[in-house]
Amino acid sequence: MDKKTAAPTEPVEDLNPFHIAAQQFDQAVAHLPQLPRGLIDFLKRPVRTAIVEFPVELADGSVRTFTGYRVLHSSIRGPGKGGIRYHPDVTLDEVRALASWMTWKCAVIDVPFGGAKGGVCCNPKEMSESDLRKITRRYVSDLGELIGPHTDIPAPDVYTNAQTMAWIYDTYAMMHPGRNNLPVVTGKPLDIGGSYGRHEATARGCLFACQRALARGVVPGLAGVKGARVAVQGFGNAGAIAARLFREAGARIVGVSDSRGGVVNGDGLDLDAVLAHKEATGSVAGFAGGRAAGNDEVLALECDILIPAALENQIRRDNAGAVRARLVAEAANGPTTPAADRLLFGRGIPVLPDILANSGGVCVSYFEWVQNIENEQWELEEVNQKLRAKMERATDAVLDKQAAVGRGGARIDLRTAALLVAVGRVAQVALERGIWP
Ligand code: NAD
Repeated sequence: MDKKTAAPTEPVEDLNPFHIAAQQFDQAVAHLPQLPRGLIDFLKRPVRTAIVEFPVELADGSVRTFTGYRVLHSSIRGPGKGGIRYHPDVTLDEVRALASWMTWKCAVIDVPFGGAKGGVCCNPKEMSESDLRKITRRYVSDLGELIGPHTDIPAPDVYTNAQTMAWIYDTYAMMHPGRNNLPVVTGKPLDIGGSYGRHEATARGCLFACQRALARGVVPGLAGVKGARVAVQGFGNAGAIAARLFREAGARIVGVSDSRGGVVNGDGLDLDAVLAHKEATGSVAGFAGGRAAGNDEVLALECDILIPAALENQIRRDNAGAVRARLVAEAANGPTTPAADRLLFGRGIPVLPDILANSGGVCVSYFEWVQNIENEQWELEEVNQKLRAKMERATDAVLDKQAAVGRGGARIDLRTAALLVAVGRVAQVALERGIWP
């Protein structure tokens, strides 16, 4: 095609997570005209950004330098809280975005934490356990006093787990002997101060939020999860457990995928067999009890509930039109771009946003922190009951906010409603505390 006949090209979609978080924030605060401009400006920015560069001697004898980040977005409502991600694509802007989403998430689920996030740019799939242990210890040691039980409290995220949290606890305890260091990190193993229910909390909270939202009629004609067809993208802590819990609640899992590919079956996948296949091969791809499908196909499956549970920017301007779910529940952080949000909203597909739908993880992290401070261990039933109450209250607050804004004449999506709840709560505390000095 020559230049004269070429179709006008649309600008490339900006997929920088920090820019996306800023757009979402700006869109929400436009509905809060009473907030002072200076306060809005402050709430938008992270209060502290740390970058550490550190060498590690790997199992093969070579020495490699890694870059680690820890961003504290806000401590207005309490100490910073947020996971640590190990992934080759970790960038400072991604960590800054994830830290700000943590601030809003902790406010929506109403736990007394601010927001933070950390990450190390590395590829855990290519590393031995001893490499990962050394990376973790050196990263935590270099962060020094930036983390602490009452200042900034890490947790698991993509490609980190309870084992990583145990190393973080151990390293911090070596640096601070003679005191109760358990509350410095959450998502720990059960026998090192972990909480019952933390491992499943993100997925269970997502289920509770869906159940509440459906019972309140967000999807006409779909009153609950029972009998619903569910597709899940990402098959780790959030995704695999969500698939199991939704199935236990009576849903049919019609498609799952992970970083290597996916599998679909309209009659419902045999999840135990999928899990066994993943255990044996490292991936859901190649599972014989369904048809092989790429990630895009799983996102575009005809289903009732789509659960993105992998990484950011999975539902974008270029593929949002293909989504055929009746409800999207974001177990992952940032899976939907602002352009995709607008397209889905326009098509009448509600999105339960990340800062609500996956807040069960940080909610039970808060429970773990409280148990550690009290040297207690609560029963699983107690944890799950408390989680359900918190998720339902948060879901109600978001749906009520959307309705209240609607009565004022503006139609907003659930992400904007959730941000309005969150920013309102954080701003309220900032105003009560006053600007220091
Ligand atoms: P995880 O490491 O346990 O699992 C990640 C999964 O995503 C794996 O199955 C991986 O194969 C898959 N994946 C990676 N790249 C992919 C791609 N390009 N396409 C499809 N699948 C891909 O991580 P997790 O803890 O389950 O985190 C997943 C998401 O949930 C992240 O967005 C994370 O921030 C969010 N989240 C996690 C928690 C938690 O408590 N773990 C809490 C809140 C939010």
